[in-house]
Amino acid sequence: MRTVIDLPDLRSSRLSFTGTVGLVPTMGYLHEGHLSLIRRAREECNHVVVSLFVNPTQFGPKEDLAKYPRDLERDSNLIAPYTDLLWTPTAEVMYPQGYQTWVEVESMTRPLEGAMRPGHFRGVTTVVAKLFNAVQPHKAYFGQKDAQQAAVIRQMVRDLNFPLEIVVCPTTREPDGLAMSSRNVYLDPEQRKAATVLYRSLSAAKELYETGERDAEKIRSKMKEVLASEPLAEPQYVSCADYDTLAELDEIKGKALLSMAVFMGKTRLIDNFILG
Ligand code: AMP
Repeated sequence: MRTVIDLPDLRSSRLSFTGTVGLVPTMGYLHEGHLSLIRRAREECNHVVVSLFVNPTQFGPKEDLAKYPRDLERDSNLIAPYTDLLWTPTAEVMYPQGYQTWVEVESMTRPLEGAMRPGHFRGVTTVVAKLFNAVQPHKAYFGQKDAQQAAVIRQMVRDLNFPLEIVVCPTTREPDGLAMSSRNVYLDPEQRKAATVLYRSLSAAKELYETGERDAEKIRSKMKEVLASEPLAEPQYVSCADYDTLAELDEIKGKALLSMAVFMGKTRLIDNFILG
């Protein structure tokens, strides 16, 4: 595995590849969830490029940019068996002095994460567009864990004619159901135990759906009821939305996305299930 920082080095490595290229964008502090994307890319493409960049433009002023966990040496060792090229650009490489171009997806970035994190998706789509232009992959791999992000990126790819395929991979979970996340390291042992409530809440809602319930408000109430049973959990939003548009539903007719954001102390956790 080669590691590069600057664009000319990235470009010359990319030019040396013949055959298909798979890109896995990450912010580092990698876990089994990231590795599942990288392994999938390894299976499907001739060359695998992993980017590692804690993108400042997708963090709000009160978010955890400065203390986002980082360990480049550990990350490199984890991915080396499956990766041809690791790109770790600096903020100066991505956003040099005078930078002023942004990519913005409109209505579907407004609800859910977009409502709670103003400007977040503008940062995400801008950096992902830059990664796509620099790496020119045939396929790019994203996790269902960040459901709205995956939907927004698919939309951007369609709207801007990026010549690549987006592959969305299932959420990797701990044995007790907690979705793997770089931010799980912030949880103390008590919060870590309580954090299973997201999975329990989503599972209870899915069970209700499977008994035939299609009233979206009843499904949301079930999720809230389970979350309320955990005193350490402070829900920020609970949603039952249309899978494609992400608009809140009254009645579930087609595919739906159940999603939630929950604070455990200062740590913000998100999770989701797809119904239908
Ligand atoms: P991040 O480093 O958090 O920006 O995540 C990089 C990529 O890994 C994103 O496409 C995430 O959706 C994906 N990812 C993060 N956690 C998981 C997980 N538990 N299962 C599957 N994919 C994940």
